[in-house]
Amino acid sequence: MTRAYDALMPLPKAELHLHIEGTLEPELAFELAARNGVTLPYATTDELREAYRFEDLQSFLDLYYALMAVLRTERDFEDLADAYLARAAAQGVRHAEIFFDPQAHLARGVAMDTVVEGLWRALARGRADHGVSTRLIMCFLRDESAESALATLELAEPHLDRITGIGLDSAEVGHPPAKFREVYEAAAALGLRRVAHAGEEGPPEYITEALDVLGVERVDHGLRCMEDPALVARLVRERIPLTLCPLSNVRLRAVDTLAGHPLPAMLDAGLLCTVNSDDPAYFGGYADDNFDAVRRELGLTDERLRELARNSFLASFLEDDEEWRARCLAEVEAYEFR
Ligand SMILES: [Zn+2]
Repeated sequence: MTRAYDALMPLPKAELHLHIEGTLEPELAFELAARNGVTLPYATTDELREAYRFEDLQSFLDLYYALMAVLRTERDFEDLADAYLARAAAQGVRHAEIFFDPQAHLARGVAMDTVVEGLWRALARGRADHGVSTRLIMCFLRDESAESALATLELAEPHLDRITGIGLDSAEVGHPPAKFREVYEAAAALGLRRVAHAGEEGPPEYITEALDVLGVERVDHGLRCMEDPALVARLVRERIPLTLCPLSNVRLRAVDTLAGHPLPAMLDAGLLCTVNSDDPAYFGGYADDNFDAVRRELGLTDERLRELARNSFLASFLEDDEEWRARCLAEVEAYEFR
């Protein structure tokens, strides 16, 4: 991907909506498959890259879960996270809050320990190796049961020094947030931060429910809030951040075209929007590729881009490192667009 507005130094930003499993590029998938003796149903990386050009949610999910088979050992998860951090740093990312889906790995017989400790080996070195600070957010699959989410939280308890918060992802419709009330209450009692995907394909009521029943501090996607003016007013009043993923929205058909994305209207409404990459290996770009796409397709001004970058740090869970947040915010303010 090329950056038209500044190929030398991208705008500093935080990435707040990023599924680590969604950063698996075809080349690394083949490398890990070879290392682990896993046979992929594709002959070459080109053939696999062609499969990444899926047209709907189901074919995306089929490919996504099929490729996870190559992730077996701590080293695999470490390599995955390290490859992401290198790409993120090149895109101006200074802080990344990274989702992972333990249930998808537990179901394949890969232990919580392997996943968390493997990711952590790379994330703990993120600042030293790549200039990127990191936090880890454990997501529950909302199409799995509430009991499974609770059991997953229990398994994670020995690793809570590595995990900052919890989230909720996967197929939204038919799985309202309230289903997960109990596990969110338990997580809150453990001192974990809380986010959830809501209002991507699901209705605005799911956003309200995520706020009221789950106590989320940040809403992932949330773009369908625009259908409910009272909800927009509340999100503005309570300064609830939304983690938007424009290129993902186009690929998964949450919007028809990027030019029709509600981001400008959301910023005009005073919403605390951020721009993120979701599953970048599959959706056509990393953090700065998303910034560049909205700049081009939505005509966002430099100051609007700066606002998005500023919001990303304001919305970050950096309360335990305000010094770093202030330094990143100062970089955003000092940034010179060319
Ligand atoms: Zn997501």
